Amino acid sequence: MTENAIGTEANPLRVAIVGSGPTGFYTAEHLFKQKAYVVEVDLYERLPTPFGLVRGGVAPDHQKIKSVTKAYDRIAASPRFRYYGNVELGADVSLEDLCRHYHQIVFTVGAQIDRSMDIPGEDLKRSHAATEFVAWYNGHPDYRNREFDLSQESVAVVGVGNVAVDVCRILCRSREELEKTDIADYALEQIAASKVRTVYMLGRRGPAQAAFTNPEIKELGEMEVADIQVPEEEAAIDEATRKFVEANPDPSTDRKVEILQRYAGEKRSGKWKRLVLRFLVSPVELLGGADGGVRAVKLVKNELFLDARGGIKPKATSAFEELPAGLVFRSVGYKGVPLPGIPFREDRGVIPNEKGRVLESGGAVKGLYCAGWIKRGPTGVIGTNKPDALETVTAMLEDVGKGLHLAPEAPAVSAAEAMVRSRKPSFVSYDDWKRLDALEVERAKGTERPRVKFCSVDEMLSALRKGS
Ligand code: NAP
Repeated sequence: MTENAIGTEANPLRVAIVGSGPTGFYTAEHLFKQKAYVVEVDLYERLPTPFGLVRGGVAPDHQKIKSVTKAYDRIAASPRFRYYGNVELGADVSLEDLCRHYHQIVFTVGAQIDRSMDIPGEDLKRSHAATEFVAWYNGHPDYRNREFDLSQESVAVVGVGNVAVDVCRILCRSREELEKTDIADYALEQIAASKVRTVYMLGRRGPAQAAFTNPEIKELGEMEVADIQVPEEEAAIDEATRKFVEANPDPSTDRKVEILQRYAGEKRSGKWKRLVLRFLVSPVELLGGADGGVRAVKLVKNELFLDARGGIKPKATSAFEELPAGLVFRSVGYKGVPLPGIPFREDRGVIPNEKGRVLESGGAVKGLYCAGWIKRGPTGVIGTNKPDALETVTAMLEDVGKGLHLAPEAPAVSAAEAMVRSRKPSFVSYDDWKRLDALEVERAKGTERPRVKFCSVDEMLSALRKGS
């Protein structure tokens, strides 16, 4: 490599990563770990605070999972890393701006909105996306002003993935349990004072097909003030599933079914809340009450069958049921949103790509990449994004080797910083974030809470001004 080749001390490979969730950090980590090129990374984030779903999605009572951010701090400590928080692509900086300053741009923006159920009544008052409730209780600035009517006694959560589990668990927690978490202050007060007594979690297929994972479902049996119930007949294994499981043995599915059947066999212990886990039911309509809000969910009972492609699918029967519920959360998956000027597949809610290379009309767009949920869809746990980011970084480095990258007119670190400073003077650096972080922890002193979050951008910026 000649001295002035890209990826040398004299001429480092300059990479912009857009989105500071786990995938953004793993992408930076892989870029720093490889030895072939000298790389500098600038990480852009719409919010002042980093970490994406680790801060705004992972449940507040799952603090252990959040400790993964220590590894992100180590990545951010590299002298070749810069963080531009409070800077939004499209609003503050454009794709053209980034192309002027970087050889490669990676989108790691995740999947920000919910999928809908497409049933009548879904737009009624008190029918919400679970993703919005999650963002609200986690103090996400965009969702802090949302209102959820927690004066309802019965709540239905549609879907049996880990997000549905989180929502049900948080609704079933006591004030004492919530006071040990970093849940947003307003959410702590409202959930602790809520009238919610019964939470239904609704699965359209059977226990063996439930998307939640075993540690999560076990945790539901250990809540202080809520009993878990599963109707015995719905926890049973049907004929189609029995054949499927015999042909595709999986110890973790066996364990899941075992846990659920144990719950089905248990008597209520008299705790004041209850979580009822239902299987083989699909909502077909949300029914409105006199006040224009949801009063019940009309359910159809399903049977399961083995489809031609070998999967277990639900089929509606003619048996219906009305489940009383004054508040409904649909938790049927996340979906990505398009970024201005970047190709997007509406049907899957992802950026079309080949191993992370952004595709347009079937060909790779030079210099543009993606990783994480916006690349593959909303699947897997935090760690799944590490190998996913590696695949993208491998493609990026292969392309650099072939000279396939953008030709920025101003690749210097200082030029990019000057651009950001001029577009968004109130940008937040990683040092600023570390100060905010310390202030949040400080605010929790004398309580059992790990931190008391700032939940609005103004609050964050003003704390930084005061704290400096
Ligand atoms: P998910 O795991 O894909 O679950 C979606 C659920 O919605 C499934 O039960 C699915 O049922 C159901 N569903 C889809 N369309 C439906 C419809 N029209 N009617 C009724 N039900 C419907 O998605 P998620 O819960 O949003 O989680 C996203 C990812 O984040 C997952 O990989 C999850 O494991 C991960 N996550 C992990 C944790 C953790 O580790 N603690 C916490 C939160 C999230 P079918 O299976 O029948 O389609």
